[in-house]
Amino acid sequence: MPVCPNCKYEYVEGIKLCADCNVELVDPSDLEKPVVLNEKDWVVVYSTDQEYKAEMLKDNLESAGIEANILSQQDHNFPAPGNFSVVKLLVKKEDADSAVAFIEDTNKESKEE
Ligand SMILES: [Zn+2]
Repeated sequence: MPVCPNCKYEYVEGIKLCADCNVELVDPSDLEKPVVLNEKDWVVVYSTDQEYKAEMLKDNLESAGIEANILSQQDHNFPAPGNFSVVKLLVKKEDADSAVAFIEDTNKESKEE
């Protein structure tokens, strides 16, 4: 899975850019140190600047039985310049694939306005 060389967040396959740092994601083997988020191994499956979207997806994921966590930059003190409103939606690694599929479905539906 790609990681951000700046903030060290791990992203799911297919995401090319870290929304916080605006830098290209790299292969973890390109980093000097292994990426450790925490003992539960959460990965970022979605990031947005609209917190309500993240909240909505979290509720949807949880009702589908997928444990999800929201991390907003206000809670996190890494020094990222600029945008302070980025909200990340994280799930456990083993749930990442189903979470991504779920989010894609949700986004498709919400586009039909
Ligand atoms: Zn980053």
